[in-house]
Amino acid sequence: MKLKNKILLYTSVLFIILLIVINSTIYFLFKNIMVSAEISGAEKEIENIVTGMGSANESVATNELLRAYVPADGKIQILGSDGKNIASSVSPSEQELVKTEIQFYPREIKKEITVEDKHYYFYSVPMIWKKGNLVNLQITKSIQPAYDQSETLRTILLAVTFIATLPVVASSRLMTKLIITPIQTLTKTMKDIMKSNQFKRIPLGNSEKDELYQMGETFNQMMDLLETNFKKQEQFIANASHELKTPLTVIESYAGLLKRRGLDKPEVFHESVDAIRSEAVRMREMTEQLLQLARPEESWNVNFHPVQLNEILERIVKSFCQAYHREIRLISDDNITVTSDEQKLKQLLYIIIENAIKYSEEEIKITLKKEKKTAIISVIDRGIGIPKEELPKIFDRFYRVDKARSRKYGGTGLGLSLAKEIANAISATIDIDSSPGLGTSVSIRLPLG
Ligand code: ADP
Repeated sequence: MKLKNKILLYTSVLFIILLIVINSTIYFLFKNIMVSAEISGAEKEIENIVTGMGSANESVATNELLRAYVPADGKIQILGSDGKNIASSVSPSEQELVKTEIQFYPREIKKEITVEDKHYYFYSVPMIWKKGNLVNLQITKSIQPAYDQSETLRTILLAVTFIATLPVVASSRLMTKLIITPIQTLTKTMKDIMKSNQFKRIPLGNSEKDELYQMGETFNQMMDLLETNFKKQEQFIANASHELKTPLTVIESYAGLLKRRGLDKPEVFHESVDAIRSEAVRMREMTEQLLQLARPEESWNVNFHPVQLNEILERIVKSFCQAYHREIRLISDDNITVTSDEQKLKQLLYIIIENAIKYSEEEIKITLKKEKKTAIISVIDRGIGIPKEELPKIFDRFYRVDKARSRKYGGTGLGLSLAKEIANAISATIDIDSSPGLGTSVSIRLPLG
């Protein structure tokens, strides 16, 4: 069954059952009260008749006496012990009582009886009549008004139940529509997305910001996120294949040159081998960085330990000076220790220092200082610098400020984006400040402790 029909059925049926239960309770309570009141009224009247007849003058004829005491809506009868009628009187409105069966009761009897679908209260009491005969004085009094009123109430309650059902069904339909329409729109949008392979949004309208609006809004936000990530991935794949194609083309063309003229000309041989080697190194670096970037951060296995920054920086500076034959000056405050992952921190520092070496020619300065609860390592070069408008983009994958020049330096455009991911993993931050032609300062902030 459809959700729409289910909601409609459950709410309507539940409400109707509730209405029936309430109305039935009202009806039965009312009927009980009315009948009890009618019976107690009848009992009082009968009591008066019995007392009145007991004290009546013996000389009055029985028939006269009964006519005087007959209830306005009932019957009075004197019955002999042999079950034969001695005298009786019936009120004009209750003529059906004339034909009722008669029976002698040796004891006092009070009961409700039905004659031709009409309700009566019957009372019989044995008494000694004139001449010392044992007789029954039997009084029957109508209690039908209580039943008539209950019947009227039942008709009214039935009508109310029926009339109330219509607005209940109508409001259930409206409620169902309110809930179902956004769900149907969501399902339709999802189907459209599957069919068209496009990221679509749900039209939200100006409705109140209820749960259904929030559901639509969340869905749209999720679509935004998926679309952004999808575009990024597409861009990444396009860039990666493009970046790998260039070194492969260079290798291919140099290999061709080697084949054609490498054996005859030693200078061509050396140039080709150098170029092939440097492109191969660049490709290796790029694939290593790509693999690391493609790995989810959770599988990075970060191990936090106390790391003595002064020692690490001294060792790094020494090895870079030797490897690149460049001047690197270290200015540091004493004894700064942080809790970090040493290997990841070193990798981060290598990327930043290699960039400083690549994009500058003069001396590089590295400073280490403490500021409140943070250790700051700054790598400052006096190189080509980065234009201000390019600064926000340099952490993007494959982004290089000057592609031609960067290629000359062997850049992949992946270094800083990897640096950023490493920094995130070890709770560090990276800030870059740069002026074209004057140089660049990269600061890494690490929490102390
Ligand atoms: P690459 O491998 O090309 O160096 P990065 O992601 O490390 O890639 O850097 C992105 C770009 O930022 C570089 O191509 C370069 O243009 C610029 N850049 C990074 N560091 C420096 C620096 N110290 N001086 C000048 N430009 C820099």
